[in-house]
Amino acid sequence: MRALRLESVGKLFVRQVDKPVPGADDLLVRVEACGICGTDRHLFLGEFPSKPPVTIGHEFSGIVEAIGSDVSGFKVGDRVTGDPNIACGRCPQCAAGRVNLCRNLVAIGIHRDGGMADYVRLPQKQAFALPAGLGPLHGAFCEPLACCLHGIDLADIRDGASVVVLGGGVIGLLTEQLARLAGATTVILSTRQEAKRQLAETLGATATVDPSSSDIVDAISGPSGLVPGGADVVIECAGVPETMRQAAPLAKAGGTVVILGVMPQGMKMEIEPFDILFRELKVIGSFLNPFTHRRAADLIASGAIRVADLITRTVTLDGAVDAIREPAMPGEVRVLVVPG
Ligand code: NAP
Ligand code: ZN
Repeated sequence: MRALRLESVGKLFVRQVDKPVPGADDLLVRVEACGICGTDRHLFLGEFPSKPPVTIGHEFSGIVEAIGSDVSGFKVGDRVTGDPNIACGRCPQCAAGRVNLCRNLVAIGIHRDGGMADYVRLPQKQAFALPAGLGPLHGAFCEPLACCLHGIDLADIRDGASVVVLGGGVIGLLTEQLARLAGATTVILSTRQEAKRQLAETLGATATVDPSSSDIVDAISGPSGLVPGGADVVIECAGVPETMRQAAPLAKAGGTVVILGVMPQGMKMEIEPFDILFRELKVIGSFLNPFTHRRAADLIASGAIRVADLITRTVTLDGAVDAIREPAMPGEVRVLVVPG
């Protein structure tokens, strides 16, 4: 079979490799689609630790082609999505239910072979069924949606809440939709590109703002802003210093800030502890997808979360090399690799 191999930092090639053999507890999945996410670019550039040589791709779904002898609940021909993050189940964090903080976490597509390939080996405990009638590309959104769901759970959004989402990439556009589903009646999304602001409005944002043309803190939380005094919840989904700085000032007193975006490890920035104290802000990090993959799959399967509009284009395995190497094109939200 063919697979996209990260052989070392900066060295990414499509190679002919052996088709994986499922172990007793594994499914062999024929990949229908695998999302290219920022993490894949970070792996390529060596900005995120991995274990090359490895087949990358952690946002995949496909059809079960074979099952191991101890697999129950799945059969050949089922459509499944894979949760790539494998917790050990034994460390103190796992024992406390914080599987995303497992100290022995192994990720499919980062530490072991992933979904940018014709086939991927998927442990049955990481597999979740999808309906046969679902579009073959849609299952690739379960993993990012599961990460957004964890952020939304932590945000604790109440009916009628106001929410600001910073960043109009896949994470922001999924988070925005989840905020509406959670009961927010005001959802404001900030992103620089006009095409993404339009998409955000199509997907349910009640307003969008352009951070490159105005001071969004004033435009949103200022006295004559969209939500004077600030929003109940601010969700940072861009992972850049500018949005990290905007997040706390956009929240109202007693409000919550959730950080989903990833900044490079070691990068520092200024905060104002007095503001967090005096206005009792809750600032919460949200990492990965603990126990949210099943719910994400159901939200996509039911159509409650719209993902079709997030697909900018599909590429083959060969096309994926350039798509990962080059920066995102204007207006691009998600590029999916379709190996077949
Ligand atoms: P992405 O496609 O790069 O989206 C980020 C978006 O932020 C960009 O599309 C960009 O759109 C926008 N942006 C950049 N600068 C901005 C600014 N100053 N103000 C407002 N928006 C700005 O990435 P993604 O896949 O959506 O992921 C977003 C972040 O979440 C990344 O840091 C990713 O690593 C992280 N992530 C975290 C988890 C987790 O578990 N916590 C899981 C997955 C991903 P414009 O060009 O339109 O501004
Ligand atoms: Zn990802």
